[in-house]
Amino acid sequence: MADAPASQALFDRALAVIPGGVNSPVRAFRSVGGTPRFMVSGTGPRITDADGREYVDLVGSWGPMILGHAHPDVRAAVDTAVSRGLSFGTPGEGEVALAEEIVRRVDPVERVRLVSSGTEATMSAMRLARGFTGRSKVVKFAGCYHGHVDALLASAGSGIATFALPDSAGVTAATTAEVIVLPYNDLDAVRAAFAAHPGEIAAVITEAAAANMGVVPPLPGFNAGLAEITHADGALLITDEVMTGFRASRAGMWGLDGAQEGWRPDLMTFGKVIGGGLPVGAFGGRADIMAHLAPEGPVYQAGTLSGNPIATAAGLATLRGCTDEIYAHLDATARTVGELVAAALTQAGVPNRLQRAGTLFSVFFTDAAVTDYDLARTQSTAAFAAFFHSMLRDGVYLPPSAFEAWFVSAAHDDAALERIEAALPAAARAAAAV
Ligand code: PMP
Repeated sequence: MADAPASQALFDRALAVIPGGVNSPVRAFRSVGGTPRFMVSGTGPRITDADGREYVDLVGSWGPMILGHAHPDVRAAVDTAVSRGLSFGTPGEGEVALAEEIVRRVDPVERVRLVSSGTEATMSAMRLARGFTGRSKVVKFAGCYHGHVDALLASAGSGIATFALPDSAGVTAATTAEVIVLPYNDLDAVRAAFAAHPGEIAAVITEAAAANMGVVPPLPGFNAGLAEITHADGALLITDEVMTGFRASRAGMWGLDGAQEGWRPDLMTFGKVIGGGLPVGAFGGRADIMAHLAPEGPVYQAGTLSGNPIATAAGLATLRGCTDEIYAHLDATARTVGELVAAALTQAGVPNRLQRAGTLFSVFFTDAAVTDYDLARTQSTAAFAAFFHSMLRDGVYLPPSAFEAWFVSAAHDDAALERIEAALPAAARAAAAV
């Protein structure tokens, strides 16, 4: 493609040796078309591609870069850790400090175990819930993505939504038979599932705010209702905060919802921000449940690089940098960007719906208020693709799918906002022309 020759050359090489040329499907630009941009560097709110073009980044590595790219404190922490050696496969202080920081911030987390991805976190939390309760069924919601865990890929969001797959090939019927998929935000459906399978459901897993079909916040009382229904049956509530954790607020989405409404999940999962751009995930919760993990208990879970000193140094420096002022900045910036986008689309006559969950937001190309996956899929992905490419041409990097959240960082300053604002009218016109 003429406008990105260096990226195209890299993509051609990649296609020869990597399936689809990418190591995670949404990166391939399949749903928006065109050449995926190969990034070579980033500073603050900006990233630069192989052709030397600079973009204001509204992806932020899908969440981890909450302080912006190459933040000096995070780099310094990583440099120090690197100088001491890369991995020992023994316990180390960094992992203890990161665990302490998580426990300090999120009240329902009394004990936490570190892993290397969000997928590992949800997979392990589900195993633990089954091991703890002695039950096998799990409830998940359509449009919620919990990583590429076999059992949780049914009607999942993110890449599964982007590519309009019902679920994934290679997942056996025996695996999905234990999973009940329900519409998001529908407590009656949850009650009905528990009525149909009393004493059989180990856990309900939900994104604390759904953000993998675009951002769909829980309706008031939804998460509290889940806690009530699960607990009445002796099941566990797992809130997946891989996306929202330490981003939606200081204590994640739970800090905006559970802390206010007085409900608690039994287990929670994290990722992204707690690694600051390096591979870290975590799951934690009630101490009595976590005590079922090996070596204290019978539920096995392990990892060669779990608690890796470099990764935990990046995560800890990132979390420590996320002060109340930073959250206020993220909140204001997310609000401003979302409102600018919605206003530009409205001005051009493009149906749009801005939705937020704390500092996470996305814009649906539909005028329906989106409360579940079916409604999310009413949007015009073609209008989004036209919008996306116009923004890209004008130096703004959006998620290359209509079904993903948009991310701002602490480093998004007035200059970054001006660049976004300047790009919007043409992009809105491009969307209107579809
Ligand atoms: N849960 C949620 C809510 C996520 O958003 C994601 C990734 N976007 C995951 C789990 C999986 O995390 P990872 O990609 O690190 O495996």
